[in-house]
Amino acid sequence: MSHNSDLRDRHIAAIPRGLASAFLVYAQRAENSEIWDIEGNRYIDFAGGIAVLNTGHRHPKVMAAVRDQLDHFTHTAFQILPYEPYVALCERLNGLAPFSAPAKSVLFSTGAEAVENAIKIARASTGRPGVIAFSGGFHGRTTLTMALTGKVAPYKVKFGVAPPAIYHLPFPAPSHGVNVADTLRALDTLFRADIAPTDVAAIIIEPVQGEGGFLPAPTELLQALRQTCDTHGIVLIADEVQTGFARTGKMFGIEHSGVEPDLLTVAKSLAGGFPLSGVIGRADIMDAAEPGGLGGTYAGSPLACAAALAVLDVIAEEGLLARADTIGASIRGALEELVLRNDGVPISAIRGPGAMIAFDIVTDSGEPDAATTKRVIQTALADGLVLLSCGIYGNTIRILCPLTISDALLEEGLAKLGRALVATH
Ligand code: PMP
Repeated sequence: MSHNSDLRDRHIAAIPRGLASAFLVYAQRAENSEIWDIEGNRYIDFAGGIAVLNTGHRHPKVMAAVRDQLDHFTHTAFQILPYEPYVALCERLNGLAPFSAPAKSVLFSTGAEAVENAIKIARASTGRPGVIAFSGGFHGRTTLTMALTGKVAPYKVKFGVAPPAIYHLPFPAPSHGVNVADTLRALDTLFRADIAPTDVAAIIIEPVQGEGGFLPAPTELLQALRQTCDTHGIVLIADEVQTGFARTGKMFGIEHSGVEPDLLTVAKSLAGGFPLSGVIGRADIMDAAEPGGLGGTYAGSPLACAAALAVLDVIAEEGLLARADTIGASIRGALEELVLRNDGVPISAIRGPGAMIAFDIVTDSGEPDAATTKRVIQTALADGLVLLSCGIYGNTIRILCPLTISDALLEEGLAKLGRALVATH
């Protein structure tokens, strides 16, 4: 049997430290909401591969669809010889688009690529350079998406100057002392001090900030941004990479607000564990890029498209939108019970729509407590639960369990979470 400790040494020798793994235990197999490591230890997965596994590990329907595709072909490059699963998936995504105008979609591989291409499309359609994003937002690790990301450490440290024409507004969050009026005042100042609205191509926002701490964008803000975009001909982009595909109890997070974006970026849970991303958008905007300007050798891999078509079926057949709300209510209930027991468990600010639930770990005086958060996560792992942190202070624990998790496993995972919190404070 291989040991985690042996692989750990090889890992550290072979891979640069810039790619930091949360845990140095090595996966061997996984099924729905459970993972086993190479030593045979079992873990309940509350991280879902960072929001990728809304339909769980290896959903049988997804596996069957990919197996069938494997038996036909694995790659042609859509720019050379196109194929039906790509077209069919775009048709399905266009049908799901949360706006009333006709839609078109284009596929890539990663979330960052989807964001990059949404910006390219917005710039092509408006002929303008500027992009406005939000503090605490996360959009990826490529040079452009790193610049859009609103967090310096660790994402921007040592990586040089940002590309031009990127601006950030403070994201409204009570815990950061910022409200919607502050954000809108900053937007007004930005337009007077730094860039004319007529030079802005796009505003990009996560309907619920993911890496930033599971902070929902207030509806009032989204409505105001929609109005600003309409007034000045700016493209409104909803980054749904983390919020998409039933996580929040709706197909897309922005649907909670009723605000219609012009473009959406999607990835992660779109293809149930296969690398696939896309931009869904208003057809008139999507057609702005010239032929050949969009694409990529592996973009819209047929295997991933087959997986995604099955994922969309599973979401519908298994009622995962409603299931997200039920799971979220159970998680909230368990956390609130811990708080009510009043034995000093240092959790606060339980929040998030659907099954996109997070809470903060704070000191007795209410300050963010990143050190205890780390200890809770490591304690949980030792007890067989994979947990993830997030938030600009590193003191938020977010729960991204598969929406296909059984009630029994959810309960077992929540009991482990409770034990880790009680043991660590
Ligand atoms: N946008 C959001 C909202 C994300 O959460 C992420 C990934 N955490 C990305 C973009 C980047 O996706 P990827 O890591 O697949 O490039």
